[in-house]
Amino acid sequence: MAEVLVLAEHSGGEVKKVTCELLTAARRLGSASVVWTGGGADAGRERLGEFGAEKVYVADSAEFDEYVVAPAAELLAQLVAEVAPAAVLIAGTTEGKEVAGRLAVKTNSGVLTDATDVTAGPDGAPVAEQPNFGGAITVHSRVARGTPIIAVRPNAVTAEPAAGAAEVTPVTVALSDAAKAARITERVAAEKGERPDLTEAQIVVSGGRGTGSAEGFGVIEALADALGAAVGASRAVTDAGWYPHQYQVGQTGKTVSPQLYLAAGISGAIQHRAGMQTSKTIIAINKDPEAPIFEIADLGIVGDLHAVIPQLLDEIGKHKQL
Ligand SMILES: Cc1cc2nc3c(=O)[nH]c(=O)nc-3n(C[C@H](O)[C@H](O)[C@H](O)COP(=O)(O)OP(=O)(O)OC[C@H]3O[C@@H](n4cnc5c(N)ncnc54)[C@H](O)[C@@H]3O)c2cc1C
Repeated sequence: MAEVLVLAEHSGGEVKKVTCELLTAARRLGSASVVWTGGGADAGRERLGEFGAEKVYVADSAEFDEYVVAPAAELLAQLVAEVAPAAVLIAGTTEGKEVAGRLAVKTNSGVLTDATDVTAGPDGAPVAEQPNFGGAITVHSRVARGTPIIAVRPNAVTAEPAAGAAEVTPVTVALSDAAKAARITERVAAEKGERPDLTEAQIVVSGGRGTGSAEGFGVIEALADALGAAVGASRAVTDAGWYPHQYQVGQTGKTVSPQLYLAAGISGAIQHRAGMQTSKTIIAINKDPEAPIFEIADLGIVGDLHAVIPQLLDEIGKHKQL
């Protein structure tokens, strides 16, 4: 069975959830092999095995932390030449998509980004599902040249455990000068509260212009905290300066695909939908029964969010006491 390479996303030896999702997709296409850059593989190996990794290629070099994305693309290109994998799966994060693009150029292969699912076609070759035109159309695509390189959105595939040997194979790569052209000079930890990361969260509570003001947006944070959710915002909110831009969801913001997306005071413009409509369950609170967000909502509540959310908080509070 051909190998399918999965570029691991990890931090301090901790395997990120998206890596387990990619391994699940990889197993549908062949034998899953992880590509691990930098240190920490010993700590992460067990978890990789729990999600079906048969092999773990470890390139334990500090250079992966010293330079931006180019070294990972060079390492993958080397492994593609050596292993001839059936596909390479990469997390569809900003960095991951850049690695995918660079790898495609290096290997003269086709690349598919923003995939929300990957399955084996009738001939066993990978078929990616991709939402297009702001999610209005879903297409199924396959790569016609070279090694299929697919960037898969975090949270899109459900991670399913399966035992794998996770046998470690050390690899070395001689990085080109070009890969070292941009050095990381400083890392500043993003100010992060207790809330989960927006693109990885299981639940996202987003607020729109209907919150009325920066102060009014406070109910969105309160609801998010009650549910252990991440906070998102529409562009109307971030442009008005009511909430920071890094929380904007949509075409020009973050793409999220949580189990539950709760949109309060958001009209549901196509550019907002582009970033959230692959969420598994969508709940909308809007005082306008004609608001377009209700077209894609699984559950719609017509009402003033400043009246509805406090009631929701009361109910959540009662359940927590039980
Ligand atoms: C190139 C381009 C890129 C864009 N990218 C993005 C993007 O990435 N993300 C994004 O979000 N937008 C994006 N936009 C903007 C997008 O078109 C919309 O303007 C924006 O999403 C509207 O935000 P909103 O729904 O919060 O505000 P509005 O459209 O003003 O809607 C507010 C909603 O709140 C409801 N409401 C008002 N008061 C209450 C209340 N008290 N209780 C309950 N409901 C209430 C109203 O009925 C209304 O439906 C982009 C636009 C362009 C042109």
